[in-house]
Amino acid sequence: MKQGNWVWWLLLAVIGVIVVVSVAAPKPRDTAITLSDFAAALDARQIERLELTNTGGVVELHGNYKGGTGDRAGRAFETRTLPTDPIINIDNLNAKVERVTITGVSRFNWLSVLSTLLTVALIGVLLVYLLRGNRGGGGADAAGNFGKSRAHMLAEGSIKLSFADVAGCDEAKTDLQEVVEFLRSPERFHSLGARIPHGILLVGPPGSGKTLLAKAVAGEARVPYFSISGSDFVEMFVGVGAARVRDLFDQAKKAAPCIVFIDEIDAVGRKRGLNFNGGNDEREQTLNQLLVEMDGFESKHDIIVLAATNRPDVLDAALLRPGRFDRQVVVDAPDVRGREHILKIHARKKPLDPTVNLGLVAKRTAGMVGADLENLLNEAALLTAREGRKKIAMRDLDEAADRVLMGPERKTLVIPEQDKKVTAYHEVGHALVAQLLPHADRVHKLTVVPRGGAAGNTAPTPEDRMHYTREILEDTIAVALAGQAA
Ligand code: ADP
Repeated sequence: MKQGNWVWWLLLAVIGVIVVVSVAAPKPRDTAITLSDFAAALDARQIERLELTNTGGVVELHGNYKGGTGDRAGRAFETRTLPTDPIINIDNLNAKVERVTITGVSRFNWLSVLSTLLTVALIGVLLVYLLRGNRGGGGADAAGNFGKSRAHMLAEGSIKLSFADVAGCDEAKTDLQEVVEFLRSPERFHSLGARIPHGILLVGPPGSGKTLLAKAVAGEARVPYFSISGSDFVEMFVGVGAARVRDLFDQAKKAAPCIVFIDEIDAVGRKRGLNFNGGNDEREQTLNQLLVEMDGFESKHDIIVLAATNRPDVLDAALLRPGRFDRQVVVDAPDVRGREHILKIHARKKPLDPTVNLGLVAKRTAGMVGADLENLLNEAALLTAREGRKKIAMRDLDEAADRVLMGPERKTLVIPEQDKKVTAYHEVGHALVAQLLPHADRVHKLTVVPRGGAAGNTAPTPEDRMHYTREILEDTIAVALAGQAA
């Protein structure tokens, strides 16, 4: 049974028992009377028999009225008072009541004891469960140990990814191929006395496939893979981050050769000593510990640390020194061929219409990274499913690209005819000039359908360029102004 399941069943059972107990528990009976009624009856000597029970905090009084006292004759009553109340002074009672008995111990109420026990047990179980959930899948053994790393470990062979699943970043793959070779047969490198980099920094915008590459390296090399995010190290308490780093590397050493992947390393690896208010001790300690660990593993520990960031400029210089992250691999946004390749990889499990031309989609999506393209295909599949069709068509991909870039169509927005006309003139202005000027990007689509905040759109097919010449910039400005001019 899954761990979560039995906890829920237990919770349900305990709630059930508590409900039953509270329903079955003795309710205040109609024999209860107020203390002043009791005092009055006592003074009038109308009480025949009285039993005092000390339950700890209060004294319970159970008794009977005498016969011949009106409609209450012979009836039982009960009330309670504090042990210090002078009314229950034993001489006073003996003087006014015929028979007084005192029972010191409270009657055993198994219902209340049971419900207390169950509540305690429930809290205990929940506490253990929550603490266990916290420590992540790092294989830590004591429940809720704070200094344990929260790394996720994927055992060797459980990663099915290979370099073939990563498209577009061929240079990065070539650079990482060496790491794969090393992890596969470290002896070959050791015998030559070669020093393999301990750490490699993957630099690139979010969603460009850094995590994917790190996993692919582990998959190719068939070694275990530990992944953790830089922000997982940072806790409120000083020293916890450092302890987690230590624990992570202890685990990694046991599993070596292996890969440790630290996502968002900038969360811990920022330049130290930039804070004037005494600095962030916790983060500095964590970073120091990371540096110590990276220096510390000798060649017998075949651990390679891959770290990802999109801000290499904010990293502490000490992290980038030889023996630490001394290599950088750039994982950039893909070019048009890369985008087509990525689209093909993610379209493998999606049925496409013969009308679909992924090359064209790639051309229209300049600037998108792998994660965006994956999202685009998913949006297209959702659109297709919504219309009950079996295959994704080109228009679904077009629509999905517009959605991803500009937001969904605003179908319910009512637009006056005049406004539509103005928008149409505006968009045609962009398109006409774009088509006429030699350096402007070609246009593949015009629309007067409002999306997100835009009334219409002229979608260019931009080229991937490294540099912009004066002509290109001038023509681009002309296209931008042409809408207004029209
Ligand atoms: P990062 O770590 O750079 O932020 P990820 O590796 O988490 O990005 O990428 C997110 C998702 O985008 C991946 O799971 C993958 O499906 C897709 N993706 C990104 N880049 C590529 C690529 N080059 N080839 C194939 N899929 C990619």
